[in-house]
Amino acid sequence: MAWSGVERWQASQIADVLPALWRRSSFYARLHGDRSGAIAMRSLSDLATLPFTLKDDLRVAQQAASADAPFGENQAAPLADIVQAISSSGTTGPPLYYALTARDVEVFSDAIANVWFTAGIRRDDVVAHLVGLPMVAGGLPYADGFRRIGATLCWLGGFPTERIVRDMRRLRVTALLATTSFAQYLAERWGDIGRETGIASTLRKVLGGGEPGLGQPDIRARIEHGLGLTHLRETMGLGDVLPSMWGECEVQDGMHFNAQRYVAVELVDPASGQPLPWADGATGELVYTAIVRDATPVVRYRSRDHALVVGTRCACGRTSPRIRCIGRTDDMLIFKGMNVFPTAIRDLVVARFASRVDPVMRIVKEHKDQVRFDDAIALEVEAAQPCDTTELDALAREIEAEVRSQLQVRVAVSVLPPQTLPRGTYKNALVVVRDGAAKGSP
Ligand SMILES: [Zn+2]
Repeated sequence: MAWSGVERWQASQIADVLPALWRRSSFYARLHGDRSGAIAMRSLSDLATLPFTLKDDLRVAQQAASADAPFGENQAAPLADIVQAISSSGTTGPPLYYALTARDVEVFSDAIANVWFTAGIRRDDVVAHLVGLPMVAGGLPYADGFRRIGATLCWLGGFPTERIVRDMRRLRVTALLATTSFAQYLAERWGDIGRETGIASTLRKVLGGGEPGLGQPDIRARIEHGLGLTHLRETMGLGDVLPSMWGECEVQDGMHFNAQRYVAVELVDPASGQPLPWADGATGELVYTAIVRDATPVVRYRSRDHALVVGTRCACGRTSPRIRCIGRTDDMLIFKGMNVFPTAIRDLVVARFASRVDPVMRIVKEHKDQVRFDDAIALEVEAAQPCDTTELDALAREIEAEVRSQLQVRVAVSVLPPQTLPRGTYKNALVVVRDGAAKGSP
C-alpha cells in the first residue's frame, strides 16, 4: 500500500480509538481536555490539533501511582488484565514503567518480528540475544520477536563477555543483535576466539541497535572485515512506545518503518513542533502515536530522536520511509549558538580521517548538564597507528580545522596513542564528563 494510503488508514483507526482512550486514561482525558469533543481525524495531519506528550508528562503521570494503578494516571487497563511490566533503563533519572496486556504482548511480538524479518532474520537462524535484563524494553520483547519468527533464540545476555563470545561459536550462532560498540568489540576479538575454540565462524548476520554509528561506512567496514560478513542491518525503536519499529532491508541504506499496523509516526520540526512531510533529505524529530495499545498508550509522543529521511521509495518494495537516526535532542551541544550533535562530529572525523584515526573517540564536558560551550569543545581521538608526538599534534590541528570548516564548531583535539581509550562491551559513551564518569552509559 502506498504510504499515503497507510496514513489514511491509520487516521481512521486513531479516530476510532481516541474516545475510548479518554475514558480509559485519566492522563489523556486531562491532557487533551476540551479538545476531545472537537477533534476530527480525517487525515493523519489532524493529529497536529492535539498536544505533544513529553517524557516529563509521563513521569508526572506515574507519580500518581497507587495499589490499584501502579503505573499511575496513564494506566489505561485494569490491573487484572496487565501481564507484564517494562522498565526504562533509568540512566537519565528514575526509571519509568510501562505495562502490557496479553494483546499488547502480541502486538509487540508481531511488530518486533516484522523488524527482525526486514533485517533478514529467518526461521533457520540461530540468534544470540545479548541484552542481560529481561525487564527492559530490549529484553523479553526482543526475545519474543525472535521466537515469533521461529529462529533459535540463544539468550546469552547476562553471562560474562568471555563466555558470550565462546558460546556464540559453540552454538553455531548465525545472527547477532548487538550495539554498535559490542559489534566493534567482537570484530576485534572474533579471530582469536575462533583460533582458541577451533570452531569456524557461522556468524553471517549482524543487527545493530541501541546507539547510532552503524550508518557510518568506516565503522561498517571494520565490523564486516573483523567478522567476515556483509549482512549488517541497523534497527531502532523506543521503549516508551514499542521497542523496535525501524529496520534496514537488503538494500542496507536506511531503516524502514515496520510498525505501521500498531503505531503512527510523524516527522516534526523540533523547534516549532510543526509536522514535516516525509521527503528525501528532510530532517526532524520522530513523534509516535500508538494505534493499538491497551495498558500505557501514548499519543504524539516526542521521541527526542532526530532522523534524516534517506528515501521514500525502495527497491525492496516496502513503501514506508527510510531513515537514519542522526542523534538525540538530549545529546545536542550548542557552541556559540550553533547546534551540533556529538555524532555529527564523530561521523565527520571518521569519514575524513578514516585511515588515520580509530572510530572510538570522546567529547569531554566539564559537568553533566553542560550543553553550551563558549570555548572549544574538548575532543579526544585515538590514532590508528603508533606515531610520535609531533605527528599526533599535527593530526590534531588538521582535525580541528576540518571540524571548524565543515560544522562551524570549534573543537580542541587531543590525539592519543592507539588503544588508549576505554572500550565498553555494551555502548561506548561518546560524551563523557571531565571526572571520567560516562554520560548515558548503562
Ligand atoms: Zn527497502
